[in-house]
Amino acid sequence: MLIGAHVSSSGGIDSAIGRAVDMGADSVQVFTQSPRTWRPTNHDPAAFDRFRERRDEAGIDGVFCHALYLCNLAAPKDDVYDKSVAAMRNTMEVASAIGADGVIFHVGSHLGAGMAKGLERVLPAMEQVLELSDDATWLLVENSAGAGGTIGRSLDELTTLVDRLDHPRLGVCLDSCHLYVSGIDVTDRATLDGLLDDLDSAIGFDRLRALHVNDSKAPLGSNRDRHENIGDGLLGENLGVFLGHPRLQDLPAMLEVPGADGHGPNAEEIRKAKEIHARWTK
Ligand SMILES: [Zn+2]
Ligand SMILES: [Zn+2]
Repeated sequence: MLIGAHVSSSGGIDSAIGRAVDMGADSVQVFTQSPRTWRPTNHDPAAFDRFRERRDEAGIDGVFCHALYLCNLAAPKDDVYDKSVAAMRNTMEVASAIGADGVIFHVGSHLGAGMAKGLERVLPAMEQVLELSDDATWLLVENSAGAGGTIGRSLDELTTLVDRLDHPRLGVCLDSCHLYVSGIDVTDRATLDGLLDDLDSAIGFDRLRALHVNDSKAPLGSNRDRHENIGDGLLGENLGVFLGHPRLQDLPAMLEVPGADGHGPNAEEIRKAKEIHARWTK
């Protein structure tokens, strides 16, 4: 398992690799621009080459770009929808330029319009982003925490997207916290076995390309997306059931935890995740 983290890329996208190495990460996830604004970063193309060089030197095997949280591909309003599609397309272009393994994104919320209406927005938007993907850089849907009309809250909804698009470069990313708060107890081995079996038969295990490893502040089935530091939340030591699952060992597993003072994942969090992983894979 390539245990890594979401890291800042402020000061140039290639700076993320040094930060990842410093915290002991074996895989890395970055934003391709500031997550608080729609305006895309004007990257220096030389930074893309430096990113690839540093990544190779560091031996970091999994690289992912996370789309902006502002994006809502199911948005009923045209202005939000258009900005979301443009931002996602830009994220895919940058991801491909740095040789990332995938763009991970939250589908978004239909905001009460219903799943059918939501899909009418989401599917053509995803098609546009997939057009820009390549054999190295896939598009990965992340399972949602299930709040307020968000699409992708269950294996059924992920399966609907994969089936309807039927695209060879469309995959999924499973987040341990989102699974837990959407009612799937990933600390229970039989439950996790069942989910992975169902995923295999519904969409194919080869489409599972990345994991997000987060503890949860919010209870099972609460649909509240509140990440907690490794071992400090309701999953606690039993996060090891997820981290240590034999079928997940070839995957990149990236932390998106608050860290110390909310500054994001750090060396201590990676160390704890690797320790739990080691105990549960003995
Ligand atoms: Zn996540
Ligand atoms: Zn989350």
